[in-house]
Amino acid sequence: MRRKPLIAGNWKMYKTKDDALAFIYAVNVEVPDKDVVESVICAPAIFLKDLVKREGENLRIGAQNMHYAEEGAYTGEISAAMLKSYGVDYVIVGHSERRAYFNETDETVNLKLISAVNVDITPIVCVGESLEIREAGTTNQVVKKQIEKAYLNVSAQDALKTVVAYEPIWAIGTGVTATPEQANETIIAIRSVIKKLYNEEVSEQIRILYGGSVNTKNVDSLLSMSDIDGALVGGASLDPNSFLTLVRAAL
Ligand code: PEP
Repeated sequence: MRRKPLIAGNWKMYKTKDDALAFIYAVNVEVPDKDVVESVICAPAIFLKDLVKREGENLRIGAQNMHYAEEGAYTGEISAAMLKSYGVDYVIVGHSERRAYFNETDETVNLKLISAVNVDITPIVCVGESLEIREAGTTNQVVKKQIEKAYLNVSAQDALKTVVAYEPIWAIGTGVTATPEQANETIIAIRSVIKKLYNEEVSEQIRILYGGSVNTKNVDSLLSMSDIDGALVGGASLDPNSFLTLVRAAL
């Protein structure tokens, strides 16, 4: 059974309110049927309420981070339940920028994944290796550990409510993309880890995206690979026409 493709934009810390609204108005009516391809924009938290209010039939809005606790004395943080109460449907968890600059660990990724699923938000769980690891030839071992830790104490039923994004750190925002073969090979390795953790059904059904300098020129070759189910896209998701081209490539 073919997995439904998903294209998720990660705006990072770009755009002002007017830019964000202009983007939504431009893409809303153009994005393809959500039953054929899922189109998601993961926006800065401050824009989420305005974007969810204006999201069209086929576009969904996601957050870029959340706290793992249900609630509590965590000044400045946002919980999964708060996101849900505003109609947010996805959240990026464990992006390498958050791991590098904001102390995100495999343990907090695991807790966030569980909290998101508990309130029916789909976590997009990011894993990926550094250039040193890739060059040392230990990518599969490192990514295996990240997956095992992220899915600790997560049932098969809940694992199916998540999406994995394989994002080699050396390819994010650098203009250097993993070759389709490299990306597919690592994603196949991730699927085999998931099969060991759960079973064949979960490993065949769970969607695994590739992320790292995806753009309108390389998207077709990446999406043509057997195990790449979509893309998590930073830079090329900022422009409405570019985002629409990426989404249409998944049709
Ligand atoms: C990302 O932010 O997840 C990402 C992959 O960025 P870029 O597409 O700009 O490399």
